[in-house]
Amino acid sequence: MKWSKTHLFTFKEAPNDAEIASHQLMVRAGLIKKLGPGLYTFGTFALRSLRKFEAIIREELEKAECQEVLMPMVHPRELWEETGRWSEMGDGLLKFKNRNDQWFCLGATHEEVITDYVRNDIKSYRHLPHTLYQIQTKYRDEVRPRFGLMRCREFIMKDAYSFDRTEEDAHKSYDRLFKAYQNIFDRLGVKYRHVMADSGNIGGNKSQEFQVIAEAGEDALMICDSCEYAANVEIAPSISQKEAYKGEFESLEKFDTPGFRTITDLSKGTGVAEKYLVKTMFLKDEDGKTYCVLLRGDDEVNDVKVKSLLGLSNPPEMLSEAEVKELTSASPGSCGPIGLKIPVILDEALENYSQFMVGANEDDKHYRGVSFPRDFKVDKVGDVKLAKEGDSCPNCGNGKYQNVRGIEVGHCFYLGKKYAEKLNANFLDENGKSQIVEMGCYGIGVSRTIQAVIEQSHDENGIVWPKNLAPFDVHICNLDPKKEEVASVVDKLVGDLQAMGIEVFEDDRKERPGVKFKDADLIGLPVRIVVGGKGVTNGELEVVERKTLEKSAVKIADIPSFVEKLLSQ
Ligand code: ATP
Ligand code: MG
Repeated sequence: MKWSKTHLFTFKEAPNDAEIASHQLMVRAGLIKKLGPGLYTFGTFALRSLRKFEAIIREELEKAECQEVLMPMVHPRELWEETGRWSEMGDGLLKFKNRNDQWFCLGATHEEVITDYVRNDIKSYRHLPHTLYQIQTKYRDEVRPRFGLMRCREFIMKDAYSFDRTEEDAHKSYDRLFKAYQNIFDRLGVKYRHVMADSGNIGGNKSQEFQVIAEAGEDALMICDSCEYAANVEIAPSISQKEAYKGEFESLEKFDTPGFRTITDLSKGTGVAEKYLVKTMFLKDEDGKTYCVLLRGDDEVNDVKVKSLLGLSNPPEMLSEAEVKELTSASPGSCGPIGLKIPVILDEALENYSQFMVGANEDDKHYRGVSFPRDFKVDKVGDVKLAKEGDSCPNCGNGKYQNVRGIEVGHCFYLGKKYAEKLNANFLDENGKSQIVEMGCYGIGVSRTIQAVIEQSHDENGIVWPKNLAPFDVHICNLDPKKEEVASVVDKLVGDLQAMGIEVFEDDRKERPGVKFKDADLIGLPVRIVVGGKGVTNGELEVVERKTLEKSAVKIADIPSFVEKLLSQ
């Protein structure tokens, strides 16, 4: 392909909203262009890369006995009402009416539609197992779309769904897809980890994410420094020492804490270490029900763990300062559990605390000598705090958590009967007895992955495409496109390379060499060949490997085999 005939425009500057390197580079290299918040057009180069990734996905999934389908993007409300997710999904689901006053939503995920597709066909155990997948556009009305393709409203996802006879079989399907995911991400040549994860409001109880390791990633991960264990911080268990603490005041008494707003203020003012102070947090669920959560002074609340402990469908939100005031009549900093008529959740690290301090629900006052159940009732005890670097590994016990950041590119869920039951997907087993189908679902953020790869693989000059995803293999900088002898060398080279299955892009624009080299670095194809009048006369051309920027002078006749070797490394 020749640049002069391609709609490809590069930019010196990145737009203001591009905060991370991969987003800046994708826009500057002309890969994507913004239409509106979370909405992007993929240019020819981006699409070529996407198609290569899709081909890898298709190959590995077909090997794993999956079959491709394509489902509608517009879904009728009635189907989503059957699972209760029409309302449960909240505003993330974009809903609209047609001319006949009927409600629809844009597909944010396809458990409902795929289950509807199979439910009337699957009648007997002989019709199972099946795993179906599609590669399709999803729409989620994300509150804050950002980071380019990382968090879009409209994005491309591969979603697969397994249907099995028994729980045991469903786990086998899960393992088969999990292995296929490992193969897929291995082939991209990126650093990634699979981590234990929350099941979100998709349901089910086994869930693992594939995370591309990158500082700019939105997810915090806890990785054991001595075994294979890794978990998203959302669910990473935090093993408490359950230290016993007993304060010096035996009976409950109120005392003055003027201007003490934070745990640090209180610790300084009273001389008690932060870890022996008790922090009070207030959260509310989707129905507006409020909860009081108590933690050690040096711990932070984990809303996903609170969600799981309470059996909520979404993580509860923190109350605003005004809401806290209305509930407790005090400002945050002077609040506590005593006298409130809301459920109290205690982090398990506090189980052996007594005679401690909490806010008195009166500005600038605290209680000391607080003990439970004497002074307040505890409704639930559990691990509701964020794990920290250095915490013990729950798997091996010897290792410690290390904290790294990741970009979630894939997710495997075991769903069980949750959707099949609500949607009446049943079959008759070997004994003629009606059974509910067992399901699993498996997503890959196809468009997000392309950007995640760039986030991990770039330098200060531009993108460094890994071979398997590069839009083209070779970038020819034709420095004298008007000269016939140069054009004929380029044409011969292009022909020879293409005959070997190597994809070539030629910069034949009327631009200065410096501009062409800068663009070649920015676009980042694996190999660059510089063809100019001088080189053609000498019979030797410069070949540059993008990853190392290493330059070699290579005889024209040897270039195809030299390039082939570079690409196979
Ligand atoms: P996240 O936690 O990042 O919001 P999710 O867990 O809600 O994602 P899934 O329902 O597991 O997402 O979707 C499968 C995959 O689709 C994710 O692993 C991710 O790679 C991709 N994905 C999800 N939301 C977006 C988005 N807004 N923009 C781009 N890709 C997305
Ligand atoms: Mg997910």
